[in-house]
Order: sequence, then C-alpha cells, then structure tokens
Amino acid sequence: MENKNAAAPLAVNGGKPVRDTFLSYGRQYIDGDDIAAVTRVLKSDFLTCGPMIEKAEQKLCKVTGAACCVAVSSGTAALHTACLAAGIGAGDEVIVPPMTFAASANCVLYCGGIPVFADIDPHSWNLSPEAAEQKITDRTKAIIAVDYMGQAADLYALGDLCRKHNLILIEDAAHSMGTRYDNRTVGSIADLTAFSFHPVKTVTAGEGGAVTTNDDSLCEKARLYGKHGITREREKWIRRNENECYYEQQALGYNYRITDLQAALLCSQLDKLERFSKRRKELTAFYNKEFSPMPEIILPKEIPLSDTVRHLYVVRLDTEKLTAGRDAVLKALRAENIGAAIHYIPVYLMPYYQRLGYREGLCPNAEEHYRASLTLPLFYSMTDQDAADVVCAVKKVIGFYRKPG
Ligand SMILES: *Cc1c(COP(=O)(O)O)cnc(C)c1O
Repeated sequence: MENKNAAAPLAVNGGKPVRDTFLSYGRQYIDGDDIAAVTRVLKSDFLTCGPMIEKAEQKLCKVTGAACCVAVSSGTAALHTACLAAGIGAGDEVIVPPMTFAASANCVLYCGGIPVFADIDPHSWNLSPEAAEQKITDRTKAIIAVDYMGQAADLYALGDLCRKHNLILIEDAAHSMGTRYDNRTVGSIADLTAFSFHPVKTVTAGEGGAVTTNDDSLCEKARLYGKHGITREREKWIRRNENECYYEQQALGYNYRITDLQAALLCSQLDKLERFSKRRKELTAFYNKEFSPMPEIILPKEIPLSDTVRHLYVVRLDTEKLTAGRDAVLKALRAENIGAAIHYIPVYLMPYYQRLGYREGLCPNAEEHYRASLTLPLFYSMTDQDAADVVCAVKKVIGFYRKPG
C-alpha cells in the first residue's frame, strides 16, 4: 500500500498532524486493583510505618531475587541511601556515566564525594567498562552503573573491575525493573541496586524507590540511613537499655520512608510486572521491526546477556543522511502530536556541574549521543494504534527531511 503520509505536509509546516491527541513518551497505568489497594490503606490504622512497607519489600525481594530490600521515598533517596551504605564520604571518587538523569551523580555530591564521569560505549550507550577503568584512581570508592533505557549495564565486566580494585558496584536500575542479565534478575547482581517507582517508570508507587542487596551488612546500613540513622531493634543497640520506648540514633540518616499508601500501590503494581514487561517487549519489537530498515535511524546494540524490559525507546538519527538536525526532527514529531523527548543532556553539561568545573568534551560519545538522539513513546497502556501513529509520524518526518540521492 502507498504510504499516503510520505508526501503530506508536516504539521510543523501547517499540515494535519498524524494524530489528534498528544501521546506522551511515558505514563502510568492504574487499574481498579491499584485504587482498591490504596483505598484499603486510607481506611486502615496506618498511613505510614504500617504493614504494607514490609509486604512491598518482600515482594521486591521475590521479584528481583535479592536477599534484602529497603523501600524508600524515591529513586533519588534510594541512590543516596545506597551511596551512604557504600560508605561514600568526603573526597571519595565515584565513577558515573553522564548519559543519565542528574540524580545518578547528585547522590555522590550529597555524600561529599566527587562524581567522575566516564564515557558510554558508542553502540550500547551504556557505561563503557574500559572508559570506567581509565578513571580509577586510589581515591575511587565505587562505580555507579546505569541501566540506560532498561538494558542492563555490562555488569560482569564492571563487577570484575570492582573486585580487582576493591570498589563497590552500585547499579542505578531506575529504568530496568524486570530486566534480566545472564538469566539473573536486575536487583540481585550488583553490590547495591537502586530502583525508582516514579510514574513514568515500569512500575509506580506515585513516588518511591528501593535499595536491594545480597549483603547483610550493606542492608543494615541502608536500613539505618533511610530512617534517620535510628534503630528501634533492641539487638542492634550499642547501649543496653530496658526502657520499652528506647531507640538509638547511631548515624546521621534521613527521613526517606515510603508511606503505606505508596507501598500498597507498589505491591499492586508489582503483581502486574509480567504483563507490563511483556507489552513493553512487544512494542519494542514492533518499533525495531519498523525502524531497523531505515538507514537514517540507528538503534542501540543489545548486549547478548541482557534480556531487556525497555523503559525508554531511544533512537539515534544519522544526521548525515538528513537535511535537518535532531532538534528540528523532535519539533516536527511533537507537532504531529507524538511526544518525542530527550534522554539525556549529559549531566556534566548542566550549569550546576559546569560551575563545579566539569567541561564540555569530557565524554565525547555521550555528547554525540545527546546531539543525535530522541525518545519515542513507550508505555504499557499504549494501543497498537498509538504505536502505529508513532511509526507513521517518524516515517513522515524522516521522509520529509531525507537527503535526496
Ligand atoms: C527516574 C530516575 C532516577 C530518580 O528517580 P526518582 O524516583 O524520580 O527520584 C534516578 N536515575 C535514573 C536513571 C532515573 O531515570
């Protein structure tokens, strides 16, 4: 069939958009079970510090295969708590990829540490283990690997590096709930893993996060730092005390508690994880099939060990083959009512990081990726028609800007 859109005027030039309503790049899916779960908590005795938190933590252990889980108030809180548990302190260097949300590096600064940006692999777009190794000094304490888009980072290579140099591997798994790596679920592989349950992520708690680990001592520390540094567990007290209401502050922690309302929503969402994962994989496969024959579009290289549940569908443009740059393509797609977005501006290019002295040119692969990439809509409740609209709009816009010949 002829693609009648190929020659249709772009919406950005006054033509009719591919669809009438705006399709955002991501959104939550909430059903009756989720609403009932939250409502039950509202009618219960506890809005926070109640039984749903432990339930959510147990469920997360089951889903990820981790021995221990500490649920907290956000993904950012999870990253900060993980850094505190890892013992990151003043002057400690932590290696981080720049192709991520700012929180992956901010958590190091919260601890007085120094984020050291190491470049991404130009094909998988995840932290390059070789680039990370080159940044190791005797002040390096940890590596934060980000599972960009949902694809697991090169966890074995990074794990080997950490063992060799006595570093802690923290995995920012905000994108990768449900992803498996070498048949092990993300959350049970790195020394510490941080999840986010923000509404655009694969499962949501409204706001929420979690730290998982298989290490008892890291687990204890994460629990302590996430709750003011206070413990009410008698067997952990430093001082002996017979007072029934005694509790002990043993460290400077934070109030990073998740509420029971959020924990109930999280439990209900985790019950749908398999469905969520399956649909995200279907949509990803559909996009891949449609876009892989297009020479103007570059898809990420999947590492064979990652069985990926995609959170973000990012594509790169081969701008040599186009008469317009990424920004014009992004604008044209948005005019077609396709909520294309950007993930991410390299963290160190942010004005705050520039003030700290980080300079453009630090990680050329990440900067090149940023300049040429955009994110297309991907979320569980997208219909087949929504996905077809995205493909239609991409073909229309790329068709318009394609270089002749
Ligand atoms: C969303 C996200 C975070 C932060 O999670 P919040 O729950 O929003 O605090 C951290 N890292 C990455 C890579 C993210 O995408």
